[in-house]
Amino acid sequence: MRVTVVGSGYVGLVTGACFAELGHYVVVVDNDQSKLSALREGECPIHEQFLPELLRRHHGDRLMFSDDLQKSVRESVAVFIAVGTPSADNGEADLSYIESVAREISGAISDYKVVVEKSTVPVYTSEWIRKIIVRNGANPSSFDIASNPEFLREGSAVTDFLFPDRIVVGVENDRSATILRELYEPLTSGLYSRQPYSVPIPTTAHALPRLILTSTKSAELIKHASNAFLATKISFINAVATVCESVGADVQQVCDGLGTDSRIGPRFLNPGVGYGGSCFPKDLSAFRAVAREHGYEFRLLDEVMRINEDQRRRFLKKVRSALWTLRGKHLGVLGLAFKGGTDDIRESPAILIIRALLQEGCAITAYDPAATERAREVLHSNVTFSANAYEAAADADALLLLTDWEEFESLDLPRLARELKYPIVIDGRNLYDPQRMADQGFTYYSVGRAPTMPDHLASSVPKEYLETR
Ligand code: NAD
Repeated sequence: MRVTVVGSGYVGLVTGACFAELGHYVVVVDNDQSKLSALREGECPIHEQFLPELLRRHHGDRLMFSDDLQKSVRESVAVFIAVGTPSADNGEADLSYIESVAREISGAISDYKVVVEKSTVPVYTSEWIRKIIVRNGANPSSFDIASNPEFLREGSAVTDFLFPDRIVVGVENDRSATILRELYEPLTSGLYSRQPYSVPIPTTAHALPRLILTSTKSAELIKHASNAFLATKISFINAVATVCESVGADVQQVCDGLGTDSRIGPRFLNPGVGYGGSCFPKDLSAFRAVAREHGYEFRLLDEVMRINEDQRRRFLKKVRSALWTLRGKHLGVLGLAFKGGTDDIRESPAILIIRALLQEGCAITAYDPAATERAREVLHSNVTFSANAYEAAADADALLLLTDWEEFESLDLPRLARELKYPIVIDGRNLYDPQRMADQGFTYYSVGRAPTMPDHLASSVPKEYLETR
């Protein structure tokens, strides 16, 4: 099938490359010329596992890049809109990019098309897209609007797209449903996963992902409700972690006992410095705003957001209680991306924490396996960036772990201890076992667990010194 994907960001580029991988002919359209020229020269502008391989495999054959939206729409049967939907100042989703795409494609709709919302949008957006396209001259019977929310996670986006838990398709008639079913058929039939060239199948993959057919409004709501639920799970366990700290329980043990209940499940029970990224913060605000607009005060979401902010404040308090005064302290920081596996720093808790520490007068040397260049653009010259974890730790008063990169889970601890001025680690992602850290000579703070330190220090320090609440 011939497909246009509008937007070559984290979602659009992955969607385009994966549809090409499934055998479709795809044009990815963007209005950012620098991104387009990088893509045309074979560069992959984002850090995402397997994406460079797919771009190399299909670019110039089944995958093209263009700035000519109208031409591309004329030649396609399905048009996926994957542009950004950031937060407006009042918390609502700013849908101006979506509107501008709808306006522009209107003139190119002559024979039948399905216009598909891939971006995360509030309920009722599909009706607005329809109105805008018709208002700008398209024949109402020459197109349908569908909602096909994207559930990929940055860091495993390609695998998530090609081996999804489910595919949600919101439509208003059979004609558009048939086109979307056909587009995803290589996934729902299992044909793709049987190909010798398929990207490695994750162990958690569903044999045959279900395509869930809904109304457009339900599909729009499914996406907002999914992200709100996942964020709630994170804030819930962070609140539990706070109680654990107060009563001297171990949140990891609690997670183990909680997550093995099949009704709850272990995923997203990760206590830490809170969620970030380009989705949860803005999607929760947008869901809150759209619920209010339609007469429901979704106060649960206010609390989820409040706990998330509080989590960063509590972490900063932990840094203070570990180091006493902060002005002039030199801190090593591991992690800048909002989570491991990506170079995305949008709403990254690491960046927000670094900014707060800079304001308190700390000097910071940071390391991230993929996000350094993006972080440099927003942190400017106030932070020194290092080439590896040990350089970040060199001569620092303490080391902060702020992103859950796999490589941070297996650091050479004796070497780290030698690099640091004081062997103090403040772990915002619970990557290490507290007792092991103490045995290795570290004073170690984490989330929802009691601080630990080597025996010779523990016996000489009053208990209040270790209090972090
Ligand atoms: P992004 O900011 O990385 O990419 C958006 C792209 O759209 C940019 O390259 C921009 O230049 C382009 N664009 C904007 N206006 C355009 C126009 N008029 N014509 C052509 N191109 C245009 O955004 P993203 O992270 O890919 O997210 C896109 C949407 O998908 C958002 O609604 C987001 O909430 C949703 N989403 C994101 C993720 C994620 O993990 N990033 C996951 C699921 C859903």
